[in-house]
Amino acid sequence: MSELKNRIFLKPTVGATEGRWYDMDVKPCPRCAFHEHTVQIEGDHVYYVVCISCRARGPIADDVFEAVALWNNRPIEAALTAQLAEANATIELLDSATVEAAQEVMAQLAAANERIAELEGNLRGAIQATAYVRKDRDRLAALKGGE
Ligand SMILES: [Zn+2]
Repeated sequence: MSELKNRIFLKPTVGATEGRWYDMDVKPCPRCAFHEHTVQIEGDHVYYVVCISCRARGPIADDVFEAVALWNNRPIEAALTAQLAEANATIELLDSATVEAAQEVMAQLAAANERIAELEGNLRGAIQATAYVRKDRDRLAALKGGE
């Protein structure tokens, strides 16, 4: 989907001015969709993710990893993603059922066309036979008339 790399800026200690960027499995900001965040450290057990763009904050955690996990935990988003997957599976199922139904109709149509061709052949034979019978009857009538 996105070409943007999600990354996070981490400082080693509270109040440190230096730090570095890490590529991490961190979700984009739920408020502004920005993909770069930092983890704010405010003591031994106060860590939280902050969006660099809009300053949205994640839940407070004991360490960096928990802070990122809490930031990434989005139950509504996960539920909607699951619903979307279910809906797509249903669409796929309906599509394949439609294709199967269409194939069945095509097979019936082919069989019906075959039967029509067969009946047309029979009809041509009957017309020809009728013509012969008429011809014979006319010849017979002519012979009788000639007597
Ligand atoms: Zn944001």
